[in-house]
Amino acid sequence: MNTDFLLIGQGISGTWLSYFLEKHGLEHLVIDDGYPGSSSRLAGGLINPVTGRNKVKTWLADHLLPFCHEQYQAMGSLLHEIVIEEKKIVECFTNEEAIRLFSRRVHENPTYLHLESFDTNYESLFKNIIGYGLIHPAYLVRMEILLASWRKRLKKQNQLIETFFDASKLIKHDSGFSYENINCKRIIYCDGIGLQKHKLISKIPLAPTKGEALIVKIPGLPQQTIFKNKLTLLPLTQKDLWWVGSSVEWEFETEKPTLSYMEQTMEALHNWLQLPVELIEQRAAIRLGTMERRPLVGMDPTEKGVGYFNGMGTKGCSLAPYFANQLVQNILHQESIHPEAIWSRFQ
Ligand SMILES: Cc1cc2nc3c(=O)[nH]c(=O)nc-3n(C[C@H](O)[C@H](O)[C@H](O)COP(=O)(O)OP(=O)(O)OC[C@H]3O[C@@H](n4cnc5c(N)ncnc54)[C@H](O)[C@@H]3O)c2cc1C
Repeated sequence: MNTDFLLIGQGISGTWLSYFLEKHGLEHLVIDDGYPGSSSRLAGGLINPVTGRNKVKTWLADHLLPFCHEQYQAMGSLLHEIVIEEKKIVECFTNEEAIRLFSRRVHENPTYLHLESFDTNYESLFKNIIGYGLIHPAYLVRMEILLASWRKRLKKQNQLIETFFDASKLIKHDSGFSYENINCKRIIYCDGIGLQKHKLISKIPLAPTKGEALIVKIPGLPQQTIFKNKLTLLPLTQKDLWWVGSSVEWEFETEKPTLSYMEQTMEALHNWLQLPVELIEQRAAIRLGTMERRPLVGMDPTEKGVGYFNGMGTKGCSLAPYFANQLVQNILHQESIHPEAIWSRFQ
């Protein structure tokens, strides 16, 4: 098999890179081992224009949000699936200080933050809530549908090899690489935490963090909205099912879901909601970010033909489409990659 590009990994990064390569008629194959615990397969799928307790606008939000909305819709049309939905985030406040802080931010960032007058419809849903803030627009990416549908498409087009890629079997030639029966001109690693095993990455301040989340059943909670306090409740497509999370743990003993996260989160849900909550599933994954919370995008200037598309941290859903496009434009037309995201910034 001969191809121009070999991508390693079909998480959200590999999927978007594959999409833009296809859009520009660039031949490629994807190797993915289908690891069920990958970050993309367990993520909530939220694209939030603000971040943290202080509701600071997320990096490049004004560019990322419209671009993502348009591109996810375009991918959805191609796949005949709804892969993105515009949603309101309703933030619930239990004290005056939180309302004051949010009000201050509304003046600084009126595009995305709005104060919601007390909505009595919510009174029967939550406990001890004295006010609401609204974050809008936000988007919810249907990760399961998107990843599975793109995978199906790749398979149908004979572009997917479902196996573990063993880097020690990659052979470099003058004109490219060979891997078992595949010959390619370039190889781009979109392998998430797999990047930690690469040889030449010691200079990069990688920051893997563990995230835990739960799937719960909450009959009666209206599923057109995202709800937030310290936790985020994201409605799933199945009736009454919600994704709730997530933790960001810098140190962890196990990659698996823990009893303590489950107990704490269930208790927090019972303290927040007036409705019954049933635990359905526990999830945990490691997301790969960098200490400066910027992605890693580009062809390597020292390893000819090798590229990287990684380091999406907690924001893969919004960063992956935007930077996959930049990477393809860079490869095709030498257009520049954002200086804070370019892979070669550490060299
Ligand atoms: C609990 C949790 C909640 C999150 N919620 C959100 C959210 O709401 N919004 C958001 O934007 N982000 C969220 N994130 C972050 C998001 O999941 C990541 O930024 C994103 O998924 C990273 O995608 P990726 O494709 O770079 O890596 P990955 O998802 O890790 O994908 C890498 C792929 O490569 C494959 N692979 C790796 N090595 C090999 C190999 N050697 N051979 C073959 N295949 C290989 C893996 O199987 C996988 O399919 C969350 C993360 C977690 C853990």
